[in-house]
Amino acid sequence: MEKQQIYDIIIDNLPVGFSIVDKNGIIVDFNNTAEKLTGYSRKEIIGRQHLKMLHGTEDKDRCPLFGHTFQKHEQIVAVEATIMKRDGDFIIASVTASPLFDSNGNFIGGIELFKDITELKRLERERKNILSMFAHDMKSPVITAEGFISRMLSGKTGPLTEVQRNYLELVKEELDGLQGLIADFLEFSRFEATECKPVIGPFNIEAAIRRHIEAARVEADRKNIEIFFESSDEIPLIYADAMLMGRVITNLLDNAIKYTNIGGSVTIRLVNTDKYILVQISDTGIGISEDHLPYIFDAFYRGKRDMKGSGLGLSIAKTIVEAHGGRIWAESVPEKGSTFSFTIPKR
Ligand code: ADP
Repeated sequence: MEKQQIYDIIIDNLPVGFSIVDKNGIIVDFNNTAEKLTGYSRKEIIGRQHLKMLHGTEDKDRCPLFGHTFQKHEQIVAVEATIMKRDGDFIIASVTASPLFDSNGNFIGGIELFKDITELKRLERERKNILSMFAHDMKSPVITAEGFISRMLSGKTGPLTEVQRNYLELVKEELDGLQGLIADFLEFSRFEATECKPVIGPFNIEAAIRRHIEAARVEADRKNIEIFFESSDEIPLIYADAMLMGRVITNLLDNAIKYTNIGGSVTIRLVNTDKYILVQISDTGIGISEDHLPYIFDAFYRGKRDMKGSGLGLSIAKTIVEAHGGRIWAESVPEKGSTFSFTIPKR
């Protein structure tokens, strides 16, 4: 058998859809699996514009291959994209895109490999729905239980012994923690189910930070932690979602206090640069080791299991900052402290 024939057989029998497009996005090859996944025969689709046929759009940004400026030898691996089928239905596909360059380095087209993950996504969605329904249903009993306990503690239901009061206070504290976990989880699952879409308006970030510092003082004073605020020149109004930005600031500030030992300090710095506002929250706390650092923004990741928390705060903060077009990152020296920074672009 000729080498070319062997290649053709291999490509046709790849367990993934395979299509080659030229530099204008016209399909020049399409394998058997791609025919099966999309319902188009090779004859029908070769010579047609792949953006329109497969991605159902003229918008290049919706296509992994043309919505991206590739560096040489770069590949986009396993991004999620919608692929239109011949019958008007669509599949959710995991697409790997590789550009092709000629020997002079000119872009001459590319390859897209795609795998149908529709069923996988459906199951994932279902699992998330069940979890968020579960969390939602847990919310009301916890609130009701806390209400009754507060009533008993207020003395309205008769006198309590010292021991009873102590126990009820402990139960109330635990229920508060549980309520916090449920609230974090519900917020997280809301962002996961629908995209985080900030409601943008003029936002005075300096005033917001000052307010959040005041709110955090109670806990900081309890641990004898000083909070400093430093701000460069005039900080202009930015455009952001006030409620969501509040969540980011509180999450970072609360963490800084939570992960700092008694007597330490927390410093918030606000820097006005050409293109964005930079917020930095530094603490003199326990720090984060190098092996934990890459994962702290992942959902449910928790460094210290013995501390209370959901492991969702930083993941929520990241979703919010990125939905504003900003970036968030952390630097840390174990035993010395951490600095969390985020940017919000000016418009
Ligand atoms: P958690 O509810 O556990 O605080 P987060 O998502 O807010 O969840 O943070 C994830 C992990 O990152 C934490 O469990 C902790 O190990 C680490 N972390 C976050 N902020 C700090 C900080 N300021 N100092 C040290 N570790 C931190």
